Amino acid sequence: MSSFSTLVDNLSFRDSDRESRVSQLSRAKSYASTNATSMTSISGDIKSQLHGGYSHPLARAWQADRQLTKSMLVYPLFITDNADEITPIPSLPNQSRRGINTLVPFLTPLIQRGLRSIILFGVPLAPGSKDALGTSADDPKGPVIASIKLLRRAFPDLYIMADVCLCEYTSHGHCGILRDDGSLNNAMSVDRISDVALAYALAGAHCVAPSDMNDGRVRAIKLKLIDEGIAHKVLLMSYSAKFSGALYGPFRDAAGSVPSFGDRKCYQLPPGGRGLARRAIQRDIGEGADAIMVKPASAYLDIISDAKELGRDMPIAAYQVSGEFAMLHAGAKAGVFDLQEIVMESMQGILRAGANIVVTYFAPELMGWLDQ
Ligand SMILES: [Zn+2]
Repeated sequence: MSSFSTLVDNLSFRDSDRESRVSQLSRAKSYASTNATSMTSISGDIKSQLHGGYSHPLARAWQADRQLTKSMLVYPLFITDNADEITPIPSLPNQSRRGINTLVPFLTPLIQRGLRSIILFGVPLAPGSKDALGTSADDPKGPVIASIKLLRRAFPDLYIMADVCLCEYTSHGHCGILRDDGSLNNAMSVDRISDVALAYALAGAHCVAPSDMNDGRVRAIKLKLIDEGIAHKVLLMSYSAKFSGALYGPFRDAAGSVPSFGDRKCYQLPPGGRGLARRAIQRDIGEGADAIMVKPASAYLDIISDAKELGRDMPIAAYQVSGEFAMLHAGAKAGVFDLQEIVMESMQGILRAGANIVVTYFAPELMGWLDQ
């Protein structure tokens, strides 16, 4: 402040012309008076004054386009074929593989606290449960179909999503049916994947979500749902933009779905492939997807934003994958940041990018944090 008073004095002394001196003096005083409210506003520009708009916690919350709500959250569950099993997954803190008999007691308190939706992944572990065609994926007595039926009865208001893929069920661990040379047979894979999706929908899943990335599977699933007369009550969510990369390690531990040879780079997107992701999103919208998923989330916020732009009239989901979850836990454990704070910040980023559905292993914690 003293420097501004000095400036005002200097101006009045330096100028010998009286009129000019008065005008400069009054302008300088007006700068000084604006300056009294903010040191940054030497120009006197009123648009520079932002702090008042977010000084109160509620006003800070209003700065977001959308607030995270419990209904945006989907909790992934790994269901084994061993009915009473609860096996903690070491690489995914606080997460377990569960048998069907443990689901209702586990989910009851979460649903009471506001959990609205889950997504099921089958993890068959019994000897002989895997083959080249992924036959057990739509076994009526398999863990996913049995769980869908049970949860529909036990929790009539719970929204049940079923991940649709073959990799948990194939002996080779790939997301489709293979040719002799080990490459994906797209036509056979799409036929099989769409059969599995139909079976989950007929069992009562509200949403089927193909994560296999075979070309043309969204259209094939939609046509089978239409043929069966249930397309009007099943949401088809496509994992349109599923990138290959290093963030799925803990999931593969959990689901036992590591490929026995090769990797998934032929069908999952390359991390730099933004244009490819845009084409996949547009294709799946054209093939009848009702919602679009981007996976992983945090390293692909631009893709979420692209999905929102290309699919502006549909829900956009983001999957905060196992590696992101494990990374935030590890950082918090190492004292890098507070877990709740970093998770809320990551959610803000995902929402800001354009998602309005977030699949996350933090759903149970978020039920509590959103009550605060
Ligand atoms: Zn898969």
